[in-house]
Amino acid sequence: MRRDLFTEDHESFRELAHDFVEKEVVPHYPEWEKGGRMPREVFEKMGSLGMLGMAIPEEYGGGGMPDYRYNVVLQEESAKALVTLSTVRTQLEVILPYFLHYANAEQRTRWFPGLASGALLTAVAMTEPGTGSDLAGMRTTAVRDGDHWIVNGAKTFITGGMQADLVIVVARTSTDPDNRRKGLTLLVVEDGMPGFTRGRELEKMGCKVQDTAELSFVDVRVPAANVLGEVDEAFGYLGHNLPQERLTVAVGSVAQARSAIGAAIEYTQSRKAFGTPVASFQNTKFELAACSTEVEAAQAMLDRAVTLHVDGELSAPDAARVKLFCTEMQARVIDRCLQLFGGYGYMMEYPIARLYTDARVARIYAGTSEVMKVIIAKSLGL
Ligand SMILES: Cc1cc2nc3c(=O)[nH]c(=O)nc-3n(C[C@H](O)[C@H](O)[C@H](O)COP(=O)(O)OP(=O)(O)OC[C@H]3O[C@@H](n4cnc5c(N)ncnc54)[C@H](O)[C@@H]3O)c2cc1C
Repeated sequence: MRRDLFTEDHESFRELAHDFVEKEVVPHYPEWEKGGRMPREVFEKMGSLGMLGMAIPEEYGGGGMPDYRYNVVLQEESAKALVTLSTVRTQLEVILPYFLHYANAEQRTRWFPGLASGALLTAVAMTEPGTGSDLAGMRTTAVRDGDHWIVNGAKTFITGGMQADLVIVVARTSTDPDNRRKGLTLLVVEDGMPGFTRGRELEKMGCKVQDTAELSFVDVRVPAANVLGEVDEAFGYLGHNLPQERLTVAVGSVAQARSAIGAAIEYTQSRKAFGTPVASFQNTKFELAACSTEVEAAQAMLDRAVTLHVDGELSAPDAARVKLFCTEMQARVIDRCLQLFGGYGYMMEYPIARLYTDARVARIYAGTSEVMKVIIAKSLGL
C-alpha cells in the first residue's frame, strides 16, 4: 500500500543507507555473527557518513535533523538486505534520546562529538538479575560522596555492554516509602572507571551480531558531573523514552516480517516438490497472501504511530499497542514463511532461520507483550 510517511530527503537517505548496507554490511555479516559483534570501525564509518549523528545538533558535528523517520529508513534498509546493524538501533533510537533530552551544556560538549562520529559506543543498563519488567524494583544503588556518586550493583542482558564506552546506569539514589518510582537516577559510567567490570557475554539464540552483557559495579566512583538530568527523577525519563524504544522494536518487526515474505517468495519459486515449484501450490499462495495482508495491516498502524511520534503525540498506551501488535504479527508471519522452506528453514545458513531466531526477543525486550497488555489495560481503566 502507498505510504505517505517519507519526503524526498528521507528517500535520498534511503539510497545512502541501501548502498552502505549492501557494500559494508552484507559481505561481512557472517563473519560478524561468528565474532558476536560489528567491529568498531564500522560504527566510525557510519559516523563519517553522517548516519549516527542525524539528530545531534550541527554545532557538535551532527546533522541537526532530529527526525525519527531517518531511523525508520535505516532499519527498513537493513531488514531488506536480511541483516541488522548490530547495536546501532539501540544507540540511535534508545540511548541517544536520553543524551539529547537530558545532557547539560558541558556534557553535550564532552560527549556529542564522539556520539556523532561513532567514536563513542553506548549502552543503557536498566535490567538487573532480580528485576526486569518491574523497573521500580531496581537494587543498584548510588550514594553521594562529595563530588562523586558511589555506584554498587549488577545489571544483566545489556545490549552493547561489552563494547560500550559510556553506559547509562539507572540506580537508586533515594527511597520514598509512598512512591517507589521516586528516587531513581541516570548516571553515565565510563569505560575504565575502577570497579566497573563486564562479566559474561551472554550466549543468545539470535541477534548474534550484537553483544549482550552482564555488568558489575563495585564502589564505582562516578563524578557528579556524569549525572544525566535531575537526581531522583529517572523513572519519569524512562517513561518518556520508552514509547520510542517500543516503536523502534515495532519498526524492526514489520520490516523483518516483510523481508521474510520476500525470502519465502524467492525460495518457493525455485524449490520444486512433486515436480512443480512449491510456489505453485495453493497453500503456498494462500499462506503468503495472508502474511502479506498481516504485514500491510501492521504497517498502516505503525506508520500512523510514527507520524504521531514525529508530531510528539504518541501516547504510552498507543506505543504499547503498536509494539504488541507488530511483534506478535512478526512471530506469526516469520513462522509461516519458515514453514514454506521445509527442512532448509531450520538451517542457520538460510536467512529465514536467522529472522526466526532474531524475532523471538521482540516480544520480550523493551517490555514484554504481557507488560504491554498491562499498560493498555490501564488506559482502558482496568
Ligand atoms: C537480547 C536482550 C537484550 C536486552 N537489552 C537490554 C538493554 O540493553 N538494557 C536493559 O536494561 N535491558 C535489556 N534487556 C532486558 C529486557 O528488557 C528484559 O528482559 C525484559 O524487560 C523482561 O524482564 P525480565 O527478563 O526480568 O523478565 P521478568 O520481569 O522476570 O518477567 C518474566 C515473565 O513474567 C511476566 N510478567 C512480568 N510482570 C508481569 C505482570 N505485571 N503481569 C503479567 N505478566 C508479567 C513477563 O511478561 C514474563 O513473561 C534485554 C533483554 C534481552 C533478552
